[in-house]
Amino acid sequence: MDYIFSFWKPILEILIIWWVLYALFRLIQGTRAVQVMMGVILFALMFYLVRFIGLETINWVMEKLLAIGVIALLIIFQPELRRVLARMGQNTLLRTFFQEGGIMDEVVKACEVMSKKKIGALIAIEREVGLKNYVESGVLIDAKVSSELILSIFFPKSPLHDGGIIIVEDKIASCGSLFPLTQNVNISKTLGTRHRAAIGLTEETDAVSIVVSEETGGISVSVYGKLTRDLDAEGLRRVLKSLFKSNEKERFSFLGLWRGIKNEGEPANKQPGA
Ligand code: ATP
Ligand code: MG
Repeated sequence: MDYIFSFWKPILEILIIWWVLYALFRLIQGTRAVQVMMGVILFALMFYLVRFIGLETINWVMEKLLAIGVIALLIIFQPELRRVLARMGQNTLLRTFFQEGGIMDEVVKACEVMSKKKIGALIAIEREVGLKNYVESGVLIDAKVSSELILSIFFPKSPLHDGGIIIVEDKIASCGSLFPLTQNVNISKTLGTRHRAAIGLTEETDAVSIVVSEETGGISVSVYGKLTRDLDAEGLRRVLKSLFKSNEKERFSFLGLWRGIKNEGEPANKQPGA
């Protein structure tokens, strides 16, 4: 028994470390945390170098800084930490996403109307990576998601119809938000800035963005820098369902982690028509 345990222990430990590092990487991908992380790694390298060479005074200073640094990191990442802790214990969010009259229904309903009336719209849905920076580029709303609210935001004469809305958890966090435009030269020249902003955001984060074209009324969805075009309401529902279902199922599974690493930035499952 002891023999079996001592054999499996290192493997188990490696798997746990791998899982934690991967989850951390997914969490900070495309956020300001990446730069902070680089700073921390650099500091750690210097710390060991100073110890190795035996520069005692600098080592002493760095030790003191380290103690303060841990507290500083906790303060800097307080919003992210809170989000992670909140997510660890709850599944209710996904239920509110899929349930009848939930976020997905409201978004699809609004897009269907806007598509028929050729009202231009841009909607981003946050997943693992925080979109706080983009939320702050627009007008903060923090209101429950409803198709009526989405429609009135994108109504062409509304002062807030330009830019995109961002859905965070079960709320519309902001409208009029500016997303980064994609620099991808392979994207069709017929696509203007609304579509380029939708793609740009999903290149930088794992968000899902939805565009309704003002010119054609076509609905498109972008994830990981790829755009699926010309969807109808049912198509949009199907794509959203597959994206969010797989997201949840695979979030805490080793298979999901493996697929995520293998595809590096590709969605775990291909969307129809992508
Ligand atoms: P459509 O098919 O609806 O015409 P398009 O891809 O051709 O879309 P444009 O016609 O250039 O795009 O759309 C302009 C609108 O896109 C702007 O009025 C604004 O609402 C939105 N937009 C442009 N740039 C950004 C950006 N960086 N972030 C968010 N929204 C943007
Ligand atoms: Mg246009």
